[in-house]
Amino acid sequence: MAYEFPKAKEPIPSAGKDDLIVIAGAGGFIAGNLAAYFSKKGFKRIRAIDKKPIYEWYQTVPGVENLCLDLSIEENCRRAVQGATEVYNLAADMGGMGFIETHRVDCLRSILINTHMVDAAWRAGAKRYFYSSSACAYNTDLQKDPHVRALKESDAYPAMSERGYGWEKLLSEMFCQEYWAERGMATFIARFHNVYGPFGTWMGGREKAPAAIARKVQEAIEGKTGTIDIWGDGTQTRSFMYIDDCVQGIDKITHCDELVATPINLGSSELIEINHLVSLAEEIGGVKLKRTYDPTAPKGVAGRNSDNTFIKQVLKWEPSTPFKVGLEKTYRWIETQRAARAAGKRVVD
Ligand code: NAD
Repeated sequence: MAYEFPKAKEPIPSAGKDDLIVIAGAGGFIAGNLAAYFSKKGFKRIRAIDKKPIYEWYQTVPGVENLCLDLSIEENCRRAVQGATEVYNLAADMGGMGFIETHRVDCLRSILINTHMVDAAWRAGAKRYFYSSSACAYNTDLQKDPHVRALKESDAYPAMSERGYGWEKLLSEMFCQEYWAERGMATFIARFHNVYGPFGTWMGGREKAPAAIARKVQEAIEGKTGTIDIWGDGTQTRSFMYIDDCVQGIDKITHCDELVATPINLGSSELIEINHLVSLAEEIGGVKLKRTYDPTAPKGVAGRNSDNTFIKQVLKWEPSTPFKVGLEKTYRWIETQRAARAAGKRVVD
């Protein structure tokens, strides 16, 4: 049984176009795209924050106030949310399986970010607070079969989350829920299922499967190696959500009063086997490669998919970009990144 929290008794105020929206983690992939999304929607006061120096941000959006602050420090969180009507916390130390299986301490330490951010937002009188949780919060015992049944929201308990990263997400969800239940700040929680697309990490060890495979196919073409190495045996399955669906979903979830303090899946329900991902990337690149499998590499759970029954019921919407369409856009974007890098320009890494 999932925990249930009281619903809002009155409509919760939202940010108007002149109110301040604060986006944490905006030097990274999803929050950077979220800042661009809200700016495009006409919001005039957006404050974007990341601990990375601004020249390392994946994108900066014209007209947005950019601050470099380490949000694991309480006083920086207080500074970050001053005057905010809405706060979106997407800051975390994270990466693909190669990162989260080998950096559990770093992942757990992200608890400091949300602990201080949610408290600072409450003290500052923010009206809506969004937290980016993850499908890694789900019970791993339910993800041992590649032909998995999709995960529904109640599957997080009894808890057996991904060690490190997943437990941090689950506990941070609880903080958000109790700031609503005990302190009255409206919090909204989405459990993202693998997000991919332009302006995401594509090299360096933190990248996720779609970007990693797209890059490896391009490297094989350029190096004329004719081979590609794959982590695990290639039968692992996942669903992948295109970034445009993700930012739209964050907006919809944060502005749905019915979802206050209620974690909800935000992911695609199109289940993709890693071998099929490789075939699609080969098709886009116009090449056929010999596959070598590395069973010792980090591969995460055997299978994971998003059950979208709840999001369809409550929002009458779900992420719908077909994987092939999103992968092609991502593949082409990585081509431009590789070309820029070869020309000595700074790129997303
Ligand atoms: P990302 O690594 O691209 O962005 C996260 C950003 O947070 C980085 O730029 C990083 O510098 C920043 N950050 C880390 N520690 C910080 C600190 N102490 N203070 C300020 N900034 C800090 O990751 P992303 O893919 O954009 O993920 C955003 C959020 O979504 C994270 O909470 C992540 O756990 C969650 N999530 C992402 C995915 C996915 O597939 N990308 C899946 C599930 C959940």
